Amino acid sequence: MADPAPLLVFGPRSTTYDFGPAHPLTPRRFGPGISLLEALGAEPNLAPEPASDAELEWVHEAAYIAAVKAFGADPDSPPRAGIGPGDTPAFAGMHEASAAVAGGSLRAMEAILRGDVLHAFHPGGGLHHAMPARASGFCVYDDPALAIARARQEGLRVLYVDLDVHHGDGVQAIHWSDPGVMTVSIHETGRTLFPGTGFPDELGGGAAVGTKVNLPLDPWTGERGWLPVLELVLPALADAFRPDVVVSQHGADAHAFDPLAHLNVTTTAMGAAARLVDSLAHRHADGRWLATGGGGYDVYRVVPRAWSQVWLAANHAPVPDSTPKEWRERWASDAERNGQSPMPMTFDDPPNAGLEHGPADELLDAAAVATAHAVLDHVLHLLRAH
Ligand SMILES: [Zn+2]
Ligand SMILES: [Zn+2]
Repeated sequence: MADPAPLLVFGPRSTTYDFGPAHPLTPRRFGPGISLLEALGAEPNLAPEPASDAELEWVHEAAYIAAVKAFGADPDSPPRAGIGPGDTPAFAGMHEASAAVAGGSLRAMEAILRGDVLHAFHPGGGLHHAMPARASGFCVYDDPALAIARARQEGLRVLYVDLDVHHGDGVQAIHWSDPGVMTVSIHETGRTLFPGTGFPDELGGGAAVGTKVNLPLDPWTGERGWLPVLELVLPALADAFRPDVVVSQHGADAHAFDPLAHLNVTTTAMGAAARLVDSLAHRHADGRWLATGGGGYDVYRVVPRAWSQVWLAANHAPVPDSTPKEWRERWASDAERNGQSPMPMTFDDPPNAGLEHGPADELLDAAAVATAHAVLDHVLHLLRAH
C-alpha cells in the first residue's frame, strides 16, 4: 500500500495569529503561501484548534498561560511576560490564536504517532522562541517544544532540526535537560542577531550534555556554507543519536532576500535541506517526521517557495521547472505594493541567489564548515562518553 499523503495543517484559525498590519510576522503570508501549495496539489486537511491548558502546561507555566489570556481580554494592560509593545504585542483573542498554533502541531504529532501518516507539515507552526514563562520574538506558545513533549510521553527519542535564521532558543531551553531530545540549530550568530544565543558551548544540562547542538554562522554566509554544514552534521548526529521521530523547523528567513537577517541562503538549498531531513526520518524513525514553518519576512518572493520545498520533500516529489503563471499573476500587485516583486518564475533560485560569490564569500563558507567540524567532533565525543 502506498504511504498516505502528508498532512497539511492549515485552517481558519491559522490567520488569527496576527500582531497587526505593521508587524513582520503577518498572516498575509498564508495567501500566497497556501495558494502555491494548493497549486502543487496540496489540500489543507488538519485545521488547527486550540490546545488545552493542560497540554500547554507540559511546556509552559500556568501563570504565563493566565497572563496570555488576560492580554487577550485586555490588550492594553501593562507589559509583562514578554508581551507588550515591541516584538510580541498583545492582541484581542491572543490566547485562542496562539493555543491553536500549538494545537495544530500537537494534533499533527499525534496523527504521526498513531501511524495515520508518516509526515505532516504545519506552515503556521515553528514558534521556537517562546519560553516556559514568557513570550519572545513573535512567539507566544512553543508549538515545536509541545509536539516534542508529546512524543516524549510515548518514550520516543526526538531529533529536532531548526533551520530558521534565528537560534531555536525556546525549544532548546524547554528540553535542555532531557537526554531523549537532541536539538540542532543552524543560524546566524548571536553576535549579530536576535536572540543573541546559540553558541557551540550550549550543550545541554546534566545527563543531556551533548544533545543540544548549535551551529552559528557569520553574517552573509550563503548556501555554499549553510548546506554543506547540514550535510556534514545532520547524518552523523542522527547516526549517533538514533531518533524515533524527527521534528523540523523550516523558517525561511535565512534566505538572501529576507529583510530581518543577514544570511544568503536560497530556496534551492532549503529544498535540499528538507530532503535531507526526510531521508533521516526514513533511515532512523520509520519515516515519522513533523515539519513546521517558522520565520520568513519576504512573504511573496520567498516564503511560498520555501514552504513548497518542504511540501515537495514530504511528498518525495520533484521540484517543478517553474511557478504557475496564474499564481504569479494573482499575487503580483500585492507583492509590488509590499516592495517584494517581481514574483519569482522558479521554485529553485539561481546559484547563490544570483549574488556574486568572491574570495570573501569562500572564506565565510570555509569558516562555517570548520566550525561545524569542531562542533561535531566535540558533540560526538560527549555522546560516546554516555
Ligand atoms: Zn518521506
Ligand atoms: Zn527567524
